[in-house]
Amino acid sequence: MAINYSELAKQVEAASQSLNDGMVKFLGDLISIRSYTGEETPAVERTLQEMRNLGYDEVWMDTAGNALGRIGTGNKIILYNAHLDHNEITDEREWPHPPLQPVIEDGVMYGLGASDCKGGVAPIVYGAAIFKKLNLPSDYSVVVMGATLEEDAEGFALRSLVERDGLKPEVVLLAEATDLTLRRGHRGRCEVRVRVSGKAAHASSPELGDNAILKMVPVIEAVEKMNKDMPSHSLFGKGNQVISLINGPHTPNSVPSWCEITVDRRMVPGETMESITESFRKVVAPFGAEVYIPEQPVKTHTGINLDGPSFYPGWLLPEDAPLLEAGKKTFHALWGEEPHVNIWRFSTDGTYSAGAAGIPTLGFGPEEEKYVHTPQDQVNLEKVRKAAMFYALFPVLYAAQMG
Ligand SMILES: [Zn+2]
Repeated sequence: MAINYSELAKQVEAASQSLNDGMVKFLGDLISIRSYTGEETPAVERTLQEMRNLGYDEVWMDTAGNALGRIGTGNKIILYNAHLDHNEITDEREWPHPPLQPVIEDGVMYGLGASDCKGGVAPIVYGAAIFKKLNLPSDYSVVVMGATLEEDAEGFALRSLVERDGLKPEVVLLAEATDLTLRRGHRGRCEVRVRVSGKAAHASSPELGDNAILKMVPVIEAVEKMNKDMPSHSLFGKGNQVISLINGPHTPNSVPSWCEITVDRRMVPGETMESITESFRKVVAPFGAEVYIPEQPVKTHTGINLDGPSFYPGWLLPEDAPLLEAGKKTFHALWGEEPHVNIWRFSTDGTYSAGAAGIPTLGFGPEEEKYVHTPQDQVNLEKVRKAAMFYALFPVLYAAQMG
């Protein structure tokens, strides 16, 4: 039976209007709850409560403390992801309104995390609820994830959901800032440490030691030169790296026995931990230096350690992917136009889903990138409502696409 998409779009529009007050209230409540990375408990509880009130088929918190809700019973899963944690307030005096007091002016909600990413959490929670309320045709379950830990360690909480708790989504939709366009990838990043060893001695008898700082000098020059010869990508351009920290024993009256630099590396899709460490090793091993990718310490609000390598691969969804096609068709069914398709500047939980696990991943969100991590943090409420419409209709178009 042919599906009448314009009729479905009208129903979705009407449902989004009737649920809009509840969604705006929920978004305001989320903004008023402080939720630094690793301290998301109240925001997670508030999200679970909203899912219960909206009649989700199943509502739970996973081991890593993500808020999760499921609509439908199909084995095949579409995962909607937006994170509940937000970055730190630097100077509260720069904010037009107190960061934790949501204010609505001219259809725009202001407050901490509005654009990153609470303005994405509210519409995925409500979009899936509209999908359920209208009983729209799809063989898929939708699982909505109010994610934790994204600001400090993007992808770690999603990795735990998939690998520890065994949820296997077929595709992932990320509700990070896209201003109602589609995003199909981003560069990756990682931290690399390069270390040389020397021999300690009292500074009064330096000839007895071997100065690790002096041994590091040619290493630094060689590492900086690597920028001339970075892997390149037609869409993302060249990778780059910056020597961002230098460290050693803090003993001013000794010949230093070791010296270590930290390098922030930006990667194009396809680079791996092995390819990165190998490219460094080739350059620094002749100087006797060692290379490693450090562990990122991560503790969930539920008290679990999720430490893992400080490595966040880049990714790109192919232009002909069914997921991208379904995203375009959903947009077209709702608004009769083609959406813009682009890539993100910043990193997201997609670094795990697409970059590490190879799960097709796509971005669509109402928030605007220019307000992310700024005192002007805000989200346009009409865009939030439109995003909810998108999430409500998407499972229908995706199921049709997969036929
Ligand atoms: Zn974000």
